[in-house]
Amino acid sequence: MTDCIFCKIIAGDLPATKVIEDEQTLAFMDINPGSHGHALVIPKAHSKDLTAIGPDDLAACLSTAQELARRAMENLGADGVNLINCCGAAAWQTVFHFHLHVVPRYADGPHRDGLQLPWVPAPGDPGEIADAARALSNGD
Ligand code: 5GP
Ligand code: ZN
Repeated sequence: MTDCIFCKIIAGDLPATKVIEDEQTLAFMDINPGSHGHALVIPKAHSKDLTAIGPDDLAACLSTAQELARRAMENLGADGVNLINCCGAAAWQTVFHFHLHVVPRYADGPHRDGLQLPWVPAPGDPGEIADAARALSNGD
């Protein structure tokens, strides 16, 4: 994809701070980090989002993300890691080349960690939950 910034990073036409590279995936630092060590994992083959990526590339991205999560905890001293994917503009996706955010989390406060839970946990309406479950189960 010629107009995709992540494809340009893979091709070497745009700079990136790379941390892991293998045959199918690339991991590099996010330029607008939500916490210390926030990195992105992308497939080398262009897919626009979670609904479009093939199972092999998805599995490869997840494996690279797992390795990054381990390194965040072992090498950066992270206390936890959030794995985030935004699928679609309504879900905050801004770059339409599939990517996983690997966001190290720190228990010691906001100077290394600016993340907050993006919803207010509160009990849902049981009828609505059941309706959604029926629609999502496809009769399974
Ligand atoms: P999204 O909002 O699509 O889930 O995430 C896109 C991410 O890509 C954002 O966190 C943004 O900071 C990051 N990003 C956008 N452009 C660039 C770039 O040119 N280089 C790097 N390293 N990250 C980028
Ligand atoms: Zn792309």
